[in-house]
Amino acid sequence: MSQARVAEMRVSPYNIIVEKVFGDTGVIYNGVTGTILRIQPRVREAIRSGRIELLTPGERADFESKGILTRCIETQKDSLRKLYEHMKSPWPQCTFVISPTSKCNLACPYCYERSTDDDAGLMSREIAGRTVKFICNNMDDPERHTAALKFYGGEPLLALDTCRQIASDVAGWMQAHSKKISFWIQTNGTLIDEKTFCPPFPERTYLEATVDGPKKKHDRTRTNDRKDPTYERVIRGIHTAAEHGVRIILRVNAHSGREMAEALDDLDEHGVKAIEELSFYDGQVSGAFSKWIKGTGCQGKIESAEHMETVVGIRRVIAEKGWTDKYQSFPFFRAERGLCHFARPGNYSIDAAGNLYLCSFQMGDENYRVGVIEEDGTASFSESYFEIMRRSPFDHEKCSECAYLPQCWGGCFAKAFGKHGSFSAPECDGIQDTLGLLMRTALVEGAYA
Ligand code: SF4
Ligand code: SF4
Repeated sequence: MSQARVAEMRVSPYNIIVEKVFGDTGVIYNGVTGTILRIQPRVREAIRSGRIELLTPGERADFESKGILTRCIETQKDSLRKLYEHMKSPWPQCTFVISPTSKCNLACPYCYERSTDDDAGLMSREIAGRTVKFICNNMDDPERHTAALKFYGGEPLLALDTCRQIASDVAGWMQAHSKKISFWIQTNGTLIDEKTFCPPFPERTYLEATVDGPKKKHDRTRTNDRKDPTYERVIRGIHTAAEHGVRIILRVNAHSGREMAEALDDLDEHGVKAIEELSFYDGQVSGAFSKWIKGTGCQGKIESAEHMETVVGIRRVIAEKGWTDKYQSFPFFRAERGLCHFARPGNYSIDAAGNLYLCSFQMGDENYRVGVIEEDGTASFSESYFEIMRRSPFDHEKCSECAYLPQCWGGCFAKAFGKHGSFSAPECDGIQDTLGLLMRTALVEGAYA
């Protein structure tokens, strides 16, 4: 390679280097190509300092093919811009999170939902009808072929008839238009009985429930105002649902390996391990969870090195206890990371009054309302909706050549509003601190995709 050709080469701005992952060997990740490579200190220094003449011709050619070196930063930026625009274009799969009631029969101390205890928060038949029309209007597009309907709350089974009405009307329309749909019920599990799934929900149904650690802990925290224990009821509910062909997704909260071990032993004792169509994931209830925006529990959100160690310890226990085949383990790091789906068009959250939100964690907070469903099922959007849809990290100098851009994409619009009062503002959300930690753990533990 001639001196002139070497001089044309630049270090890509979209590289992240993590030092000493395997002894002295570090790792470099390039967000344009998704390449992850081990690098020795000599190479790391050459890349860090931009002195690429210190690399061998073979290394330069290899790094150029992997995007770590480039002759044109603008070309790399353009390919990221195109990817971002693609993610913001109408999507073939749509998700509708519906809260048919904001009421809940439990009063868990850490709950971040804005639950109510009166009937004002119940969705009327009229609003349920508008909701069905809204969903069908959205799906009435040849490019859109799959929908997921998630009943959320409050406790959605307090409004079982409304859930059924919406599910059967939407399923009928989807079937008539040869489109696929799945139903998800996020419930505390205490209200399930034989009647819940008779008649069954149409199509494929998933039930998402939570056990708050071992039985003794769950019975202390997942309670109603009278402090009645609920563990046995939840487990009965899970068995009943499974007997009716519903697939179960269990969130098992645990804050240490020991707590997970006890929780899994209790579940095993109650016959849960033997349920074929059941998977689970681990969750931690943390203070930071509701710090800015109620639900920053977006997958992969790790708050500290200690939190990371806890999760790694929990995963070991899950393997030791023989639950691996049921465990939904998210990779600590993905080489290609998309946008949060609530930032993509075609995904909505709908409250009991027919108000539209994007992220379900903000339902009920007027600041995050992006519109309302009209009588004919069309939407009247507010300016905030268009602002979120127009949002682009390429409008901000600090984002457009940021090494973290292909992982962060300018951050969460909801957190941006919570912290900076603007949906368009960039929101780094500490990614500079956490991503290296996630990458290191992912590579050491083999948990990356
Ligand atoms: S919008 Fe923000 S808070 Fe909501 S799920 Fe997405 S990243 Fe998380
Ligand atoms: S929000 Fe922050 S971390 Fe994300 S791309 Fe912009 S500057 Fe980088």
